[in-house]
Amino acid sequence: MSHLHACHECDLLIDIGSISEGQVAGCPRCGCEVIRRKIDAIRRTKVVAISGLIFFVPAIFMPLMAMHAVGRANSASLLECVEILLQTELYFVALIVALTSIIAPLFKLTLTLYISCYFDTPVMQHPYYRKAVLIYHKIDSWEMLEVFMMGILVSIIKLQAMAVLTFGMGLVCFVGLLLCVVALRVTFDIEQIWERIHEH
Ligand SMILES: [Zn+2]
Repeated sequence: MSHLHACHECDLLIDIGSISEGQVAGCPRCGCEVIRRKIDAIRRTKVVAISGLIFFVPAIFMPLMAMHAVGRANSASLLECVEILLQTELYFVALIVALTSIIAPLFKLTLTLYISCYFDTPVMQHPYYRKAVLIYHKIDSWEMLEVFMMGILVSIIKLQAMAVLTFGMGLVCFVGLLLCVVALRVTFDIEQIWERIHEH
């Protein structure tokens, strides 16, 4: 079966055929890497996606950090941050934070878990499975936990001069969630999924 791939650098169309785990296919014209079959992709993706979903709930509901200043203490979870933004009528910012830090990561973790769990089962032939893989392509760049993390880091630097900060479990779990979502980019092999759908 032919597997045509375009070289990312020089656009040459190459018939790569099937490659096995850990193998790399290069471009015969410019020598650049065209495709790399990830090792143990399905099992690793399942582990990472489940860990991400475990981190998700406390990352959203538990306090990120607490601030103590002039005898008062304040703390907020990620969900409360969105609520505060809504109360202060920053609707657009609230929507962006909710979409990139809550909805998109949850959707991405669930979708990759679904795709990996049904890999090599009859479900793969179902049109819904193909649709799920297509949706993954579309939402791949939506989740931006790193941007929110940068926001937290900037607030820590700015606030530590005027208040005493204590970090909550929410922040620990948020970092865990962020690491799992980043790890998905390394473990999940969308090419392998398409190849197997095509073979059936
Ligand atoms: Zn090339």
